[in-house]
Amino acid sequence: MVAAEDIAIVGAGTAGAASAILLARAGHRVTVFERVPVPTAVGAGITLQPTGQAALLRLDLLEAVRARAAPIERLRCVQRGGKPLVDLPYADIHPRLHGLGVHRGVLFETLFAGAHAAGAQIQTGVDIARSEVVSDARWLVDTAGGRHGPFGLVLAADGAVCELHGEALRLRARPYRWGALFLVADDPDETFSRDREIHQVVDGAHHLLGFLPTGRAPHRDVPVVSLFWSIRADRVDAWRAAGVEAWREEVLDFEPRAAPILAPLTDLSPVLFARYFDVTMYPYHRERLVFMGDAAHATSPQLGQGANHALLDAVALADALAAAPDLPTALAAYTASRRRHLAYYQFAARMLTPLFQSDSRVLALLRDLLFPHARWLRPIRRRMVRTMLGVDRGLLRRPLPVGELARQLAPTLPD
Ligand SMILES: Cc1cc2nc3c(=O)[nH]c(=O)nc-3n(C[C@H](O)[C@H](O)[C@H](O)COP(=O)(O)OP(=O)(O)OC[C@H]3O[C@@H](n4cnc5c(N)ncnc54)[C@H](O)[C@@H]3O)c2cc1C
Repeated sequence: MVAAEDIAIVGAGTAGAASAILLARAGHRVTVFERVPVPTAVGAGITLQPTGQAALLRLDLLEAVRARAAPIERLRCVQRGGKPLVDLPYADIHPRLHGLGVHRGVLFETLFAGAHAAGAQIQTGVDIARSEVVSDARWLVDTAGGRHGPFGLVLAADGAVCELHGEALRLRARPYRWGALFLVADDPDETFSRDREIHQVVDGAHHLLGFLPTGRAPHRDVPVVSLFWSIRADRVDAWRAAGVEAWREEVLDFEPRAAPILAPLTDLSPVLFARYFDVTMYPYHRERLVFMGDAAHATSPQLGQGANHALLDAVALADALAAAPDLPTALAAYTASRRRHLAYYQFAARMLTPLFQSDSRVLALLRDLLFPHARWLRPIRRRMVRTMLGVDRGLLRRPLPVGELARQLAPTLPD
């Protein structure tokens, strides 16, 4: 085991807060620096896959999150007009595994409180600008000129637009041209929650409307659903200028059942835009510095894996520090343990995204011709479900053991 270190974590998001919990519990002295002065529970829904659920179980936080989450049993995508395109039931791989639709704020609050409880020091309102090595220790410098250190290890967990990217050994980071508008809306009649599915409607590759049952928002008891509307980044201003009625009409043309959830919307201010990023680096570490979560491997969220990978990163790093005799060995082991899994999902997200979010008519046509056949070709469908579950590691590599995952989660699953 690596001896107790002073560890700094940049960013109190999923990767940062989960790491703070595990590392503080392991006896390290942990300080988290978060840019936002008063972190609050904002954001849309995310899907927690069985892999992410197992990581939360390891943190002893799965039950707290599950209590406010919505079970997801399949992903169903149809073309506008209702023609089936993709239907991926979790039960194809294991009868008891499923996803959890959860409000980002629920995950955030649970992890944040967990980090406090584990004894991590959390400094909010500190915007880290860079890191430097002085006398074999790392220091952090914030945008106000404050210096923080010395630290034996720094975790860069500040998301896709990472201020420490300049330190990465090999890095490619670029924004996608596309992103998504999202809205979290009350679903008091459980119109979407009842179906227990991620429901998507597409028209070509330039229109995608998605609904994710999102359980209950923090501090409220009404069921909510997250609505996602795919859009190219340079079209967001024109979309806002067109106003709420134009959008409502367009959405209802795709999915009339959205009428009650859009009814309270009087303007577009609750609808937010998130741009996608693609970040690739290798290795994920250098001296006394490790990148994790979106800072290391952001992708488009087409496969719904980003927060799950952030949680898995936290577990992998804690395990590597616990098992290795020294820090360089631990960081090398961390990079090696995450490489294949992450490389597959980055590859898959890059392949899939233009089929669902691009201006290409040819790709959309190919998708509409080929994807419906996958429903009848069991090996292909199983591969697609396994990828959704988060366990695949490559076209020729064995997936993570699903039976083992189901055994771990079994005591927490409803009958
Ligand atoms: C529309 C959309 C839908 C998505 N859906 C899913 C899904 O269904 N399932 C899923 O698993 N993933 C999903 N994702 C991806 C997921 O949100 C991310 O992969 C995940 O949040 C990454 O976690 P992170 O901890 O790496 O970064 P973040 O959650 O971005 O956290 C980074 C933290 O660092 C802080 N920070 C940033 N810069 C600094 C700085 N300079 N100094 C100090 N603090 C700083 C930020 O304030 C933030 O708190 C989705 C993403 C989008 C955009």
